[in-house]
Amino acid sequence: MSKKTKKFRTEVNELLNLVISALYSNREIFLRELLSNASDAIDKARFESLSDKSIAEDDSDWRIKIFADKEARTLKIVDNGIGMNLEDVENNIGTIARSGTKAFMKQLEESKKNDLPEMIGQFGVGFYSSFIVADRVEVFTRKAGDDKENGVLWSSKGTGSYSVEEKEKATRGTEITLFLKEDTDEFMEEWKIRKIVKQYSDYLEYPVVMDITHSEKPKDDEGNVIEDAEPIVTVEEDTLNSQKAIWTRSKSDISEEEYKEFYKHISGDFGNPLETIHFKVEGNFEFSSLLFIPEKAPHDMFMQSEKKGVHLYVKRVFIMDDCKALMPEYLRFVKGLVDSADLPLNVSREILQEDKLISKIQSNLVKKVLSSLKTMMDKDYDKYVSFYNEFGKVLKEGVHSDYANKEKLQDLMLFESSSTNAAEYISLKQYVERMPSDQKEIYFVSGQTRSAVENSPHLEVFKKKGYEVLFFLDPIDEWVAQSLFEYDGKPVKSIVKGDVNLDEEDEESIKKEAEEFKAPLEAIQKSLDEEIKEVRFSRRLTDSPCCLVADEYAMSANMERIMQSMNQEMPKQKRILELNKDHKIIQHVLDLASNDASGEQFKEFTSLLFDQALLVEGSPIQNPAVFAQKITKLMESALA
Ligand code: ADP
Repeated sequence: MSKKTKKFRTEVNELLNLVISALYSNREIFLRELLSNASDAIDKARFESLSDKSIAEDDSDWRIKIFADKEARTLKIVDNGIGMNLEDVENNIGTIARSGTKAFMKQLEESKKNDLPEMIGQFGVGFYSSFIVADRVEVFTRKAGDDKENGVLWSSKGTGSYSVEEKEKATRGTEITLFLKEDTDEFMEEWKIRKIVKQYSDYLEYPVVMDITHSEKPKDDEGNVIEDAEPIVTVEEDTLNSQKAIWTRSKSDISEEEYKEFYKHISGDFGNPLETIHFKVEGNFEFSSLLFIPEKAPHDMFMQSEKKGVHLYVKRVFIMDDCKALMPEYLRFVKGLVDSADLPLNVSREILQEDKLISKIQSNLVKKVLSSLKTMMDKDYDKYVSFYNEFGKVLKEGVHSDYANKEKLQDLMLFESSSTNAAEYISLKQYVERMPSDQKEIYFVSGQTRSAVENSPHLEVFKKKGYEVLFFLDPIDEWVAQSLFEYDGKPVKSIVKGDVNLDEEDEESIKKEAEEFKAPLEAIQKSLDEEIKEVRFSRRLTDSPCCLVADEYAMSANMERIMQSMNQEMPKQKRILELNKDHKIIQHVLDLASNDASGEQFKEFTSLLFDQALLVEGSPIQNPAVFAQKITKLMESALA
C-alpha cells in the first residue's frame, strides 16, 4: 500500500487541543500512558501465546525498552506485544475517543476546568497524551502472526491529519517514536526517565529497560585512574522498575500513591479511586483481588460501553480485561482485578460464563464490595454520599436483580423524603427508627422532581399525621419499589396506590357511607366513564378536592410515564378518582350529581376536577385548550 494521508475527524482536533492544554501541567504522564499501553499489548501477546506456540517461539522475552536519543531529540518506546495491523491502527490510533465524542465534548464544555484531566482520562485518550511533549509521533507496528511486509507506519503531527503506509518491520510489536518539542530536554535524561518509571509504572509486570552508558577512564595495574587516557565507554541494559505485581504484595507494604498509580493503569481513569479493596481468599479455593471504586462516574456508564471493568489473571498471567462474569451488572463501576490460582490458563470466555469457581469468586467479590460500602456508610457518611451521588442509580439495580443480596442492598439505599431537605438523604433503617409508634407501614411516593412530589395532594394526610414519606425520584426507583416489599418486617407502600386509611375508620361506616352516596358517586363515574374505573371517597386528602390513585397492583402514573419515555407501548390504564368528602367543591358536585346530573355545570365541574387531578400528579391532560376555556368561563362567572 502506498502512503496515504488522512484527516482526523473534526472532534479529534478539538479534543487534542484540550488534551494538550489540560494535561500540560502534568506532562510527564505521557510516559505512563505509553508504558501502560505497551504492557497491555504484551499481556495480550502472552495470553495468545498460550494457545499459539508460534508467538512464543518468535519472541517470549517479554519486555519494554526505552531509547532516548539526544541528538535526534527522540524518545522511543518499544514493546514485543501483540502489535497492530492496518485496520487496528486505523481503528485505535486514527480515531480518538471512539463513540459518543460529541456528547463528551459537550460535557467538557460544561465542566469546570479543574475536572478536565480526570474527564479526559475517563475517555481513554492515553496515546494522545504523547502530543503534549512531541510535535510529531510515529507508530511503527506489526501484529503477532503477520508477515514482515505487513508492518504499518503511522505518523502525525497531531494537527488535523495523519499518514499511514505499509512498511516492512522485522519484529513483532510496536515502536512509538516521539519527536520531542523544544522545551522537553528533561525527558531524554536518564534520571528523569528513571524517576517517572519508578513513580508511575513500577508495578508493571514486564521489565522496562533502557541502555545505560557508562564512561570511565581506565585504571593502571595499581588501580589508579589514568587521567590522560581516553575513557572506556560501556553500554549496559538496566531494568528501571521493580516488576512486583502489586496485588501479590502485603497491604502494609503498599503506599497509597502506589495504589493510586496502579488504579490509573488498570482503569484508564486519570482521577483517584474513592475506595481501594485489597484482599485474599484462602481455603477451598484461592484468589487474590484488588478492587477499586472510582471517585467519578464515567460519562457513558448507562450506555454500558465500559471496557475496563474487572480483569482476570490466572497465576499472575493476564487473561482478559473486563471479565463480565466476575461482577454483576449493577456493580459495573468497580475496577480492578482478580488473580486466581485454581483456574486453567486456557480458560475461554464461554467456559467462564458457566464456571462454578468463577461464580464463587463473583459472590465473594460482591460480598466484599457491599460490606466495604456498608462500612463506608457507617464510618464516613459524607464519603458514602459522594459515592451514592455518582453510582447510587446503578447500585439500586441490584435490589431488583440480586435477590441473594437484597437485604444488604436495601441497607445501602438512600432516599430523599418529606422530612429531609432537598439533596439530603435518609436510609430505610433511619426511617424505621424515627417512625412514630402508631405508624405501621413505610410510605413512598414516586415522581420526576422533588417539587412535584412535595406538593402532591396524596401527601396531605401523611403530613397531618406526621408520617414521613420517602421520595422516589430516580426512574430506577420504580423498579426498586417493585422488589421492595418490606423492610424490617414493615410493608413498603406507595401512597398513590390502593387504599389508605390511616385513622383506621371502621370498615362498616365506610361501607355505609358509600351506600348512602351510591347514586351521586355513580353519576360522577358515569360522566367520566372513559377515563376512570371508580369514584370513591378518599382518606388521604385534607385540603385538595380530589386526586387520582392506582390499584394496589397496577402501574403508577410515574411508571407509565417512564415506560412511555422508553417508547414502550402502554395499554391505557384507568385509575380511581378519590374525592375529599369534606371539601366545599366536592359537596357542591355531589349535590349537582343528585339533583342536576344532566346539567351543564355538573359535566364541566367533573371534567375540571379530573383534569386538575392529572395536572397535579404531573400527567398531561388530554385537551389543554378546552381546559383553559373552562377555567376562563369559571373566572368570568366569578367576576359577574
Ligand atoms: P486506551 O489504552 O485507553 O484504549 P489509547 O489511546 O492509549 O487508549 O490506545 C488506544 C488503543 O490503541 C488501545 O486500546 C490499543 O488497542 C491500541 N494500542 C495503543 N498502544 C499500543 C501498543 N503499544 N501495542 C498495541 N496496541 C496499542
